[in-house]
Amino acid sequence: MGEQFEYSEKVMDHFRNPRNVGQIKDADGMGRVGNPVCGDLMEIQIKVEDNILKDVKFKTFGCGSAIATSSMITEMAIGKTLEEALKITRGDVAAELDGLPAVKMHCSNLAADALHAAIKDYMVKNEEKAKIEAEKYDFDVIVVGGGPGGLTTGILCAYRGLKTAIFESSSWGGILSWLCHTKMIENFPGLSEKTTCKDLVDTWMSEAKKLNVELKKERVNEITKDMKVIAQSGEYRSKIIVLATGSSPAAAGVKGEEKYSKDDRGIYYYVTNPEKFAGKRVLIVGGGNSAVDAALSLIDTADLITIAHRHNELWAIGQKIERLKASDKIKILYDTELVEISGAEKVEKAIMRDLKEDETIQQVVDSVILAVGMTPNTDIFKKLDIEMDEKGYIKTDRTQKTSIDGIYAVGDIASDLQLVVIAVAQGATVAHNAYIELRKPYWRSAGRL
Ligand SMILES: Cc1cc2nc3c(=O)[nH]c(=O)nc-3n(C[C@H](O)[C@H](O)[C@H](O)COP(=O)(O)OP(=O)(O)OC[C@H]3O[C@@H](n4cnc5c(N)ncnc54)[C@H](O)[C@@H]3O)c2cc1C
Repeated sequence: MGEQFEYSEKVMDHFRNPRNVGQIKDADGMGRVGNPVCGDLMEIQIKVEDNILKDVKFKTFGCGSAIATSSMITEMAIGKTLEEALKITRGDVAAELDGLPAVKMHCSNLAADALHAAIKDYMVKNEEKAKIEAEKYDFDVIVVGGGPGGLTTGILCAYRGLKTAIFESSSWGGILSWLCHTKMIENFPGLSEKTTCKDLVDTWMSEAKKLNVELKKERVNEITKDMKVIAQSGEYRSKIIVLATGSSPAAAGVKGEEKYSKDDRGIYYYVTNPEKFAGKRVLIVGGGNSAVDAALSLIDTADLITIAHRHNELWAIGQKIERLKASDKIKILYDTELVEISGAEKVEKAIMRDLKEDETIQQVVDSVILAVGMTPNTDIFKKLDIEMDEKGYIKTDRTQKTSIDGIYAVGDIASDLQLVVIAVAQGATVAHNAYIELRKPYWRSAGRL
């Protein structure tokens, strides 16, 4: 007489009503195992999304235990991460079924083996797929623009192990280099009192080099929706593209601007070299930080400085306004609008409108600085059909993603706050999200941001 054994109610239930029987269309992985002694044959198929087993199905030819263990393991595995599912043991399967007779324990072993084989099959295929995919690209991340936003994005992407390149058409460091390299950034916490913009940019550049960021000194002419970056030296493909092209001074749109803003004829948009204004009568148009900064930078060189502002209050930081008002060289014309600049070869006169009195004012000037705001550099994205707001800034979500998949934006191109600290913080946000998007780390599926 053969050995007598009894099945638990759970085993009988799963045997009579097996769960998840069948086949998955386009399964991501398949594991097939058999036992030559008892002749059981088990096949498990899996569907994986974001490292999680979304579906598990089985086909088993065998005894009641083989059917019940197959059915039970599918229920145990669905919803688990791959790592968690790989930890399910034969003992776990038997325990979930309230035990199995000793002679049938090999059936639970078979179920666990089939599931593990399906997961390993998925992992091998996935790795091959990722390799083929990776070969199509030159970089994980290409950053367009090497200002504070672009440089720090590149550094932090490389720090996370992403193959990164930055393209810069003009000066590494952006505005910090060409406009204010000897200045200190007062509102960037943590810098020493002696740290100039140049020092900060030099530090970023040496960090980028240490982390093997590819630094390409060339202009990007176009970006396409299929993730091509068309630069002067050729075309590059990247899995992620970060737009960090910053902003440029806006035109005031006044009569004479076009004529005198070329060839050093007297209209400028910023002060790069205060010495150039030595002994001059300078009109500064605007009332924000840029206008006030320009005035303060000329106190020691210009002869007379006039600020013309359309409103009745300056929009700059309080301490700066205090410094401005303490100087007897600076005159402020509130409620005043610039209408025209005139002269022969060079700027000679500014014609303004007093908005309160509704009358015209004329002033003899040698130079005019138009500090009327910044406008985002979006020319190269025109064909991309990327979403922008009414002022032309690129719209992003809280991860800095734009309306186009795989394309992010940071810094002045994406924010009218226009602060170095904001550009850097946005760079850190992109690096984090690019890493998640490309490397799909296991902790992401555990629900962490
Ligand atoms: C007068 C002035 C004073 C300021 N003072 C302060 C201050 O005290 N504190 C503060 O926090 N912020 C200050 N800012 C603002 C600060 O400079 C900006 O917020 C910051 O530079 C933004 O960095 P960004 O990387 O977005 O852009 P940017 O610094 O403008 O850099 C963008 C870079 O992209 C490059 N680029 C553009 N198009 C292309 C292309 N097609 N291909 C390749 N490269 C391209 C440009 O050459 C540029 O180098 C000041 C700005 C101005 C104008």
